[in-house]
Amino acid sequence: MAVDQVLLAAPRGFCAGVEMAIKALAAMVRSFDPPVYCYHEIVHNRLVVQRFEDMGVIFVDDIAEVPTGAPIMLSAHGSAPEVVDAARSTGGYVVDAVCPLVTKVHHEVKVRAGKGYQIVYVGHEGHEEAVGTMAVAPDAIHRVESVAEVEALDELDGPTALLAQTTLSHRDWTDVQDAALGRWPDMWTPGRSDLCFATTNRQGALVEIAPRCDAMVVIGSSNSSNTMALARLAAESGCSRVLRVNTADELPDDLDGVVGVTAGASASEELVESVLARLAPRQGVSEIRITEEDEYFPPPRNLRDLLTSIDAATALTLGAQRSDVPATGDRQLGASEVLRLLGS
Ligand code: SF4
Repeated sequence: MAVDQVLLAAPRGFCAGVEMAIKALAAMVRSFDPPVYCYHEIVHNRLVVQRFEDMGVIFVDDIAEVPTGAPIMLSAHGSAPEVVDAARSTGGYVVDAVCPLVTKVHHEVKVRAGKGYQIVYVGHEGHEEAVGTMAVAPDAIHRVESVAEVEALDELDGPTALLAQTTLSHRDWTDVQDAALGRWPDMWTPGRSDLCFATTNRQGALVEIAPRCDAMVVIGSSNSSNTMALARLAAESGCSRVLRVNTADELPDDLDGVVGVTAGASASEELVESVLARLAPRQGVSEIRITEEDEYFPPPRNLRDLLTSIDAATALTLGAQRSDVPATGDRQLGASEVLRLLGS
């Protein structure tokens, strides 16, 4: 490998939703005897899932696999209402770690469907976020992924609305939006698109560096929608060689010149560091930051309450006053650090 320089995109890697979900599952592991169950992969990243499996978390794709009374977490992608109900009916402690930005789309679907709208939803077939969102109003929603699919839709009766999966690429979204508004000029769309800030920021940073690179490395899993959107966008931005890798071991030996590096929203900084170590650029790493990202999503409320109770009980057992009980230091500790601690 003869890499001269690495251009490192910023923001990259874990978003606020993933940070929240990882820390919430880590808190459950700390609070309950194993096994803790998790419906679907907590995030789409093998390393993260493996760390939790090593800690006794069991990932399931069907709530029926969860024994009565066992604690369960629902993943960041958002779950269908019947899945949430089924989880609650198992009688165990349920934490719904859905990202608040996905909840916002669920809410929009519910409100529009309730008002009699037909909803055109731009999302990837089979992706957990799309499946969960469509289940909010299955009779009123029509999923599309391309301009051709918009054109192939039947005429829709009544008012129409356009909503989207949060992790689409801007280019995919814009083309489909234009086609939909071309067919239904009065279609309702949210004031701000459903594409989340993390998706937008990671794509913006990538576009800044991809045209200047001989090769672009995108770290993340093939089932991560925002990772795949980054890889597509790198090629569309003029980079002739785009490599999506799960880990540094998958990097080829023949990389040279200027190499760009970014990571999808479910890839940890630990993976980024191992890729940089493997690339070992002669002239070092230059971080290209397009914006600061300080969004923070607190843990789900019932988990917050539980952690506060545990902290309080621990402190009282040790003889402290309730007012001395420290607040759970969630914001200070990043999810990458939490994962590192889980692995140590
Ligand atoms: S990518 Fe966006 S919508 Fe998805 S979990 Fe992260 S912040 Fe939430």
